[in-house]
Amino acid sequence: MNNVVLFILDSCRYDSVDEKALSWLGDMSKRWSWSGWTLPSHMCMLSGLMPHTNEPISAARAYWYQFREWSDRTGIELEASSFTPSYWLPALLSESGYKTYVLSTVPCFNSHTALNRVWHFEDLFLKTHVGLRTVALMDGIRLILSESSEPVFIVATSFDTHYPYLLDNLPRVSGIRGGVTGDWSETGFFSCDLDRMKRAQADAASRSLIAMQSKMQETCAGSELPTHWIVTADHGELFGEEGYFGHGPFVHDKLFEVPFAEGLIK
Ligand SMILES: [Zn+2]
Repeated sequence: MNNVVLFILDSCRYDSVDEKALSWLGDMSKRWSWSGWTLPSHMCMLSGLMPHTNEPISAARAYWYQFREWSDRTGIELEASSFTPSYWLPALLSESGYKTYVLSTVPCFNSHTALNRVWHFEDLFLKTHVGLRTVALMDGIRLILSESSEPVFIVATSFDTHYPYLLDNLPRVSGIRGGVTGDWSETGFFSCDLDRMKRAQADAASRSLIAMQSKMQETCAGSELPTHWIVTADHGELFGEEGYFGHGPFVHDKLFEVPFAEGLIK
């Protein structure tokens, strides 16, 4: 069996990541998120549906391909039918002998939501105040891997790539967590800021993935099991395209295009 880590770069659109940035893990491909917003996207991913390819196949075949991929990731024999009736990945993995963990302060992971099911340990960073940068998440993952005597499934959501990209010199606009449209003068955004913000996300993604690569070996070294890593994003981000900024309940190619790479680290 393999440990499995689903590492989500919040809001990181596909073209913010250099195609070589994840070559140490596997080929990075363009995939499409199931939603342009955090909660529904996380909901889909935790049902076992990773960001999808863009092929004209039937829904039934899409389910079959998606669910069968978890056999290779986990190293255990899973059928597409294994996901029924719950369609809830943490439940399936827990029943298969995994301990399941979430390292995230994404609001939809609070204790009252439907997402909060079958986790053995949650909100580590809320309790330890370590933070949600990739560096801190890698430390948390290392801790879990080194202390667990059973295979683990970890979901980690990094805010490095979420506006304002954890930098302290970008405008902070109330309500900007979702999207803003219309009169930029009211929001305090100017066209020069948008290009700067787009570069800031790409820089944040680059730093985040360099940090991840540099800490990967020590992160995985404490576990006797190999660890299958999936690195992707829950949705993209818009920087003024068609008048939109951010992410939320609107539609644009760049909002749905996300990076996707996976591979086994021994
Ligand atoms: Zn998000």
